[in-house]
Amino acid sequence: MKIYADNAATTRVSDHALKAMMPYFQEQYGNPSSLYELGQKAQEALDDARGRMARLLNCQAREIIFTGGGSEANNQAILTAAKLGAKQGKKHIISTAFEHHAVLHPLEALKEEGFDITLLDVHEHGLVTAEEVAQAIRSDTCLVTIMFANNEIGTIQPIKEIGKVCKEKGVLFHTDAVQAVGHEPIDVQDMNIDMLSLSAHKFHGPKGVGALYVKRGIVIAPLIRGGAQEKNKRAGTENVPLIMGMAAAMEDACENMEENSVKIRQMRDYLIDEISQIPHSVLNGDRQQRLSGNVNFCFEGIEGEGLLLLLDDKGVCASSGSACTSGSLDPSHVLLSIGRPHEIAHGSLRLSICEDNTIEEMQAIVRAVKEVVEYLRSISPVWTDLKQGKQQHII
Ligand SMILES: *Cc1c(COP(=O)(O)O)cnc(C)c1O
Repeated sequence: MKIYADNAATTRVSDHALKAMMPYFQEQYGNPSSLYELGQKAQEALDDARGRMARLLNCQAREIIFTGGGSEANNQAILTAAKLGAKQGKKHIISTAFEHHAVLHPLEALKEEGFDITLLDVHEHGLVTAEEVAQAIRSDTCLVTIMFANNEIGTIQPIKEIGKVCKEKGVLFHTDAVQAVGHEPIDVQDMNIDMLSLSAHKFHGPKGVGALYVKRGIVIAPLIRGGAQEKNKRAGTENVPLIMGMAAAMEDACENMEENSVKIRQMRDYLIDEISQIPHSVLNGDRQQRLSGNVNFCFEGIEGEGLLLLLDDKGVCASSGSACTSGSLDPSHVLLSIGRPHEIAHGSLRLSICEDNTIEEMQAIVRAVKEVVEYLRSISPVWTDLKQGKQQHII
């Protein structure tokens, strides 16, 4: 039996999304830039997908640019704000310490070019406040970029309040909403969002396709040049099948959001309640302000890698830290940002569930986690030291 509990890393493509893509591989395979009917049919399909996605975000179709995923959308948003800022002599950017690397790394690159970057503290609960954002804004601030929901610990930021602050102060506001689109209600106008990144494979769409919403009036800096596609903002022949799959998946996710989140939250709360009973464990991220499907714990005296491998043996797909960092031995920057010490941050477990999971699977996960944690502690020298009082418990 395989239990997939790593939906924050990626999701299974839904039947509906797959079906929406199929005609565009072998039947309607025209290039949207071609003038004959086959090309124009593809163009019409793109326009239709753009319009449907725009409605779901409450923006206009022309405010949506298709990209090759969430990372590209983040890079394009940050580059756009930096170019606009530099023109006006504004080279200060505000973000948080626990953003995805697709935000943090472009910011590091800008730092080399003379930008000043303020990374706000997210505190123990993994949340910033609008007041903290307001206080950090300076006369030379050109961008506030704060993620909607964190991919590791699932905390949801007060985006509407932050958007209001940015609007009042006249500063561009971008949000990496890759974990939130299709999972949390979003209205870019009501929330005063100027730019928003999304990615299809986090809501049962295909990988390698995403979108950037950019409010009209903001001049977009292209990352990729070489053609007039996307009104010169993103060169390259549009990936029509993937875009059609993304639009279908986003519609499904948004239309069924309420019903799904009730079911998912029930399973999540069961996992949190049960796993909390393991001694010397701690939930990461605020208990209330978190994604319906996110569970993240640290366990004292164990290594995350061992935990994942043994869970895999028991058929459970889970994660420790983000996929991008799990290849290295460094503990997750997200867990460090909420003040978890290195020793604890190494022993983390993220379970991210979706509406396809069942309560029976949750019961099996709980059994597996309890067994594996107990086993790993039984062979851990650190745990022996803790038990014998040679080291003090941190949690
Ligand atoms: C997955 C993810 C990304 C990257 O999206 P890709 O489509 O995989 O490039 C960016 N930000 C967050 C918060 C994510 O979870």
